[in-house]
Amino acid sequence: MAAVPAATLARGRATAVIPAGLEIAGLAKSFGDRKVLQEINLTIHPAEVVCLLGPSGCGKTTLLRILAGIEDLSAGTISMDGVVIANSTASMPPERRGIGMVFQDYALFPQMTVLENVAFGLRALRRAEAEAAARTAMASVGLTALAGAYPHMLSGGEQQRVALARAIVPRPRVLLMDEPFSNLDRRMRDSVRDDTVALLRETGATCIMVTHDPEEAMGIADRIVLMRRGRIVQAGAPEELYHSPVDLEAARFFCDLNEVACSVVDGHADTPLGRVDAPGLPDGPASLCIRPQGFRLLPPGQGTAARIRSVRFLGETYLAELDVQGLDRPVRARLRERPPSSRRRDVGLSIDFDEVLVFGHQRA
Ligand code: ATP
Repeated sequence: MAAVPAATLARGRATAVIPAGLEIAGLAKSFGDRKVLQEINLTIHPAEVVCLLGPSGCGKTTLLRILAGIEDLSAGTISMDGVVIANSTASMPPERRGIGMVFQDYALFPQMTVLENVAFGLRALRRAEAEAAARTAMASVGLTALAGAYPHMLSGGEQQRVALARAIVPRPRVLLMDEPFSNLDRRMRDSVRDDTVALLRETGATCIMVTHDPEEAMGIADRIVLMRRGRIVQAGAPEELYHSPVDLEAARFFCDLNEVACSVVDGHADTPLGRVDAPGLPDGPASLCIRPQGFRLLPPGQGTAARIRSVRFLGETYLAELDVQGLDRPVRARLRERPPSSRRRDVGLSIDFDEVLVFGHQRA
């Protein structure tokens, strides 16, 4: 069955909630003797949209499951609006936390219709009331026409919307989402994601979303929490993490980098690509990192001498590989203008210093 086009979604129909704030202090989790989460300290403000970002296995889903109350923590506390909801000895049951959850596989009930799935969380209400609330939530995600359909009759995007409607219908004060778009193809993911974000902003619920896709996190989050090996390594606005990553590994996570070994002396590094400022870095070995979009082509004889190795057309940009005298490996440059097409053509290369990062090796 075809997805409901984004244009048919009814905006402005979601019921607003009073969002909750969360305080996570000293949280740790072990499975047996394996430490999966350590020293997690995080304050999440009411109505904030926070993305937990990090490589596979870093503990994102485990943290989300602990917040939902479906996994216990080993140490630390979680408070919601100042009230402790979990510590190492007690845990408020999931259904009392006022937290909704959208799982990666949507976890819809196959034997129930869309309407029954969405109304499932409202069993405490009278049937007519539950149905009316479910229909309102369904309208807000463009599902009205599919009320009688079963999950197997729906596209991935529609199933995601059913899961979202089911999560928001009890009006949770916090919504947790575990990779909610990962099962959708790219085109559908963009439209479903835009609609979901609009809906989140409309309901005003605090939202914590897990993703391993940095672009997705940057497009959605008020704040990104970058995790690695069970710890938070950096938390901040998307621009902050992109422009001022805490270390080389964090920088690599956000962008494909050209990395050049260099030496810092007196606050700058001389490299085959020119002199680069490295304020605050101690003298010693370092990595010069240039984002592919940080290069400009110049006529031969200007800037750094380079030679084109290959050019690939990527749609909106071109990806050129260039050899630079003094570098062991070619650099990858993402260019807006079509570069001279012939291979082995000599060109000049300049660097946009906004796209350059330098890390001392002790920080990597
Ligand atoms: P992904 O992006 O791949 O989903 P993640 O960052 O969400 O990864 P988690 O699913 O939280 O990572 O898992 C963190 C670590 O904890 C992994 O090494 C995983 O194998 C381990 N783990 C998770 N659940 C359990 C469990 N019930 N028992 C033992 N180990 C577990």
